[in-house]
Amino acid sequence: MRFAIFGDIHANLHALDAVLADAREQACTHYVCLGDVVGYNAFPKQCIDLVRNLECPVVKGNHDEQASMLGDQEGFNPLAEEAMTWTREQLTNEDKEWLRSLRLQRQVRDFTIVHATLDTPHKWGYVFNQLDAAASFSYQHTSVCFIGHTHSPKAYVRDGSVRTIPLDVLVLQKGKRYLINVGSVGQPRDGDWRSAYCIYDTNDGELQLRRIAYDLPAAQAAIIEAGLPRKLAERLAVGR
Ligand code: ZN
Repeated sequence: MRFAIFGDIHANLHALDAVLADAREQACTHYVCLGDVVGYNAFPKQCIDLVRNLECPVVKGNHDEQASMLGDQEGFNPLAEEAMTWTREQLTNEDKEWLRSLRLQRQVRDFTIVHATLDTPHKWGYVFNQLDAAASFSYQHTSVCFIGHTHSPKAYVRDGSVRTIPLDVLVLQKGKRYLINVGSVGQPRDGDWRSAYCIYDTNDGELQLRRIAYDLPAAQAAIIEAGLPRKLAERLAVGR
C-alpha cells in the first residue's frame, strides 16, 4: 500500500487540490488525514467535503474541535480566533457534527496517527524537540506514528536515545521507533511556502517528504475577498 499522509490543511483548497493531484500522480493508493481540516483560510466547507469524499481515516485537530464546539472558543490567539468565528459561519450543522465525531488518535494498519502528541492528545501540546518527542514515544506502541500540529516537517527516531533525522527520503529499520511530523498542506511554517505531506510505502518501508507548489495568489485573493485578516494571506507567502 502506498499512503499519502497529510494534515493541517486549514481550509486552503488550492493547496489541498495540488497535494491530492500529486498523490495521484505518485500512485498513492490510500489516504490518511491528520486533522485541522479547517481554520485560517477561505474554504473550510469545500475542504471538509473533499476530505470526506476520500473516505479515509481522519483524526481531530484543535481547529476542528474549536470549529465544532457548542460553547465559546478559548485559548486561541486573536488572529486564529477571528478566522475561527468566520469559519463557524461557513459550516453546516452536519459539517460540525462530522468534525465533532472525529477521534483524537487511531491506528491505521500497523501505524498510529494523532494530530498533536500521543502523551496528551487532548491537550494539544507540541512536539518541537527531542524531549517532546520522547514523551510521545513512551505512549507509542507501533513502530511508526504520524503527527502534525507544528506545521513543520520533522522526523524523530528512538533507538536507545531520541534523535532527529532527515525526512527527505527515509527507509524505516526494524526494531526502531519513528515519530514523523508530515508538515502542513495549507499553512507551512518552516520558511517554505509550498505544501508538505508524506508518502509512506508499506511494501518497502520507505517514507518520503513531498513539497508541492500550488496557486498561492489565488489562495491569498480568496482570503482577502472573504474578509479574513490580510495577515493570513501574507503569511502564506513566507511560510510562517
Ligand atoms: Zn494546525
